[in-house]
Amino acid sequence: MYPEWIRSMPKVELHRHLEGSIRPATILDMFRRNLGMYLDTSLEELLPRMQITGSERSLVDFLAKFEFFMPCIKSRADITRITREVIEDCAAEGTVHAELRFSPAFIQGLTGLSLVEAVEAVLDGAREVPAGMSVSFILGTPQPRGVEVAWDTVKLARDYLSSGVRGVDISDDTRIRSLEEYQAPMEWARSEGLGVTIHAGEAEGPESVRTAVERLGATRLGHGVRAVECDEVLELAVARGVVFEVCPTSNIHTRVAESYENHPMVQLLAAGAKVTLNTDDPGISGISLGHEYQVAISHWGLGPDELRQMNLTAARAAFVDDARKAELAAVVAAWRPDDGSAGGAAGGPRS
Ligand SMILES: [Zn+2]
Repeated sequence: MYPEWIRSMPKVELHRHLEGSIRPATILDMFRRNLGMYLDTSLEELLPRMQITGSERSLVDFLAKFEFFMPCIKSRADITRITREVIEDCAAEGTVHAELRFSPAFIQGLTGLSLVEAVEAVLDGAREVPAGMSVSFILGTPQPRGVEVAWDTVKLARDYLSSGVRGVDISDDTRIRSLEEYQAPMEWARSEGLGVTIHAGEAEGPESVRTAVERLGATRLGHGVRAVECDEVLELAVARGVVFEVCPTSNIHTRVAESYENHPMVQLLAAGAKVTLNTDDPGISGISLGHEYQVAISHWGLGPDELRQMNLTAARAAFVDDARKAELAAVVAAWRPDDGSAGGAAGGPRS
């Protein structure tokens, strides 16, 4: 658990996968209802198949968790329920703006829904967002699926631009194809007013960051942390004001970083990079956003001021209109810890 002041801090989360944020109890319920499976299996018994236990070694192991539970998702109602619950969970963590990403092509493969129905099922789950909170959706193309799926996805995103879809992404195992293949659909997406964030500098090294920024026009990077392996690439990202969507525990679980102490966040901060804190796949990692804030406090010596600054960065980089950006920035800037316990947390070493 983490202190109440972390929960009460207004948070802006830019990088969270809908499919990786499903409540474990919901997964078990859907296995039972939809497939008649695991009727006599407890949640505790099933949990190691859904979540990282610590023995995993790679991004492939991480993605294998998805492969285990994804077949339990069968219907439009399942997608709507998952979305509604994820938004509830974000609100409970003090998130005032959440950007949830998902792959319509992936949902289509699971449920047989059309791409349009997949998006509408998600949007149905976001009809009752708690007061004061906003949600934007980012449509992702799983990188191994290729450029035709990317075109379908960016066109779909443009069609729903006024309905809550605000950006596009290339995700999944980014080593299968070259990122350059996606240049044309990403350029088009930007020209249509969509935000572009790209998974890079995670499974692949700093050159993927350069490609995402220079060729695909990404203003935000999903992870991007391996930019620190090349001074020139790191300087490029800093000079362009690219925003890093850092997901610390996910990076440990996929072995991008060996430990929190050795996590590239320390170098990103030292280089003056624009960084934000995110969960990536909290359902699989068994974490919350507050957990990641506690990591920043315990392992990197950050305190309320630095965490607030990260939320200001996130507010300004959010895929929302300028009026909402200003509202979010004002809410984040106005917050002060009120229980007196936050001061001590800021006393550690600065990075
Ligand atoms: Zn991700």
